[in-house]
Amino acid sequence: MHATDTIVALSTPPGRSGIGVIRLSGKEALGLTRSLLFDDDFEPEPNHVSLKAIHAPDSKEILDRALITYFKSPHSYTGEDIVELSCHGSPPLLLQVIDSLLFLGARAADPGEFTMRALANGRLNLTQAEAVRDLIDAQTHTAVRQAAKQLGGELSARLQPIKDSLLNIIVPLESTVEFVEDDLPDDIIRDFAQKLSALSTDINEMAATFRRGRLLKDGLRVTLAGRPNVGKSSVFNSLLSIDRAIVTDIPGTTRDALSEVLNLEGIPVLITDTAGVRTSFDTIERLGIERTRRAIIDADLVIVVLDGSQPLTFEDKVILDEASDNRFIIALNKSDLKSFSEDVPPWAEGYPLISVSAKTGVGLNTLSAAIIKPFSANYTNESSFVITSARHYDLLKRTGDAISSSENLILQRVSEELVLAKLYEALSFLGQITGETTPEDVLSQIFSTFCIGK
Ligand code: GDP
Repeated sequence: MHATDTIVALSTPPGRSGIGVIRLSGKEALGLTRSLLFDDDFEPEPNHVSLKAIHAPDSKEILDRALITYFKSPHSYTGEDIVELSCHGSPPLLLQVIDSLLFLGARAADPGEFTMRALANGRLNLTQAEAVRDLIDAQTHTAVRQAAKQLGGELSARLQPIKDSLLNIIVPLESTVEFVEDDLPDDIIRDFAQKLSALSTDINEMAATFRRGRLLKDGLRVTLAGRPNVGKSSVFNSLLSIDRAIVTDIPGTTRDALSEVLNLEGIPVLITDTAGVRTSFDTIERLGIERTRRAIIDADLVIVVLDGSQPLTFEDKVILDEASDNRFIIALNKSDLKSFSEDVPPWAEGYPLISVSAKTGVGLNTLSAAIIKPFSANYTNESSFVITSARHYDLLKRTGDAISSSENLILQRVSEELVLAKLYEALSFLGQITGETTPEDVLSQIFSTFCIGK
């Protein structure tokens, strides 16, 4: 964790842009910058911007004029000296500046290494570091707000009183073990058990918010399935109100699965339009069909699109059967046509069915409400606390279990040492959430999910 070398990375996305920001962190950040400027006397004022010419270390030619910001340790993101070079956003130029810094002795940063250093230097706790990643990855405003709250320390602030309460039980138990000959009196035992029971209820309630938190962060996967020409691409386009999928009259022309993110009530919904499920000898189309089957299996919800302007076919039945292993709704499309009928064969009866017209837009609001309804049941208050990470969920569950066990043990009047062991276990799980007791390999795994330059 305590690397001492100076790291460098591009912190803005690769590709052409107005500016590209290169970040250096470590003891040599300023020294390396001086070498790049060919100016040994460069003494920038911390947190102020200087306009400087950057030179190639070998040929000394000017590469760019860049804005240079120096953040002096410990008042920086990582807690180390940081220099940010805001260059013009030309990919070959940025590459050349980074190469020059590597040549001068910097090391290319690993994913999330800046944030990892911030954690090592106590600038952030682990939940805040994870929030940085979640904020960058957020797909909706709700997910942004959620990550920002966690970055502000919401989760760690909620865990602190629980840790304190555990310590308030641990300390007197420890002194009992140490100094008291007799067993603990009944009223104290009852008091501890009550407190532990309240704590495990709190913890389990926090863990239960993950159902909604997971949705806010990871969203829902929804797949549109149906035989060719029923109007899947049209429904997809109407739902997204954008024109990405190819809409044609020739059956079987939507060959690729196209995905877009739709924002329904703050929940990101990844909606996938698939190639028609159809028995076909065309290889390309067959590959598309395979993808459809997979998309059906992977989806949280399948929308089976049927053409209500024509009699339903055996192919429709096959698709419905395929989807019925999953949660699904039927969109009976083309309700604008005269021949449209809501009468379905017995094999399609009794399922949730919504009549829509991708052409006129009728029924699409009902359809989008139906997509989100089963998942938003426990979606109460947008501003309420939720946990969004499976790692936090798992550790909270384990904390709750350890506290429950300690409650049972104390009521059974087994030795205090056994109760204490469970309480320390609970404390350690909580510490793993905020980073104090997180094993090194878990940390590496967490930071490997970050982008480079953060
Ligand atoms: P896919 O193969 O299932 O993706 O079907 P498309 O979205 O490509 O649509 C096939 C044909 O049906 C196109 O000619 C569309 O214009 C037409 N279509 C789709 N939805 C509707 C609708 O709601 N009403 C009418 N009248 N035509 C539609």
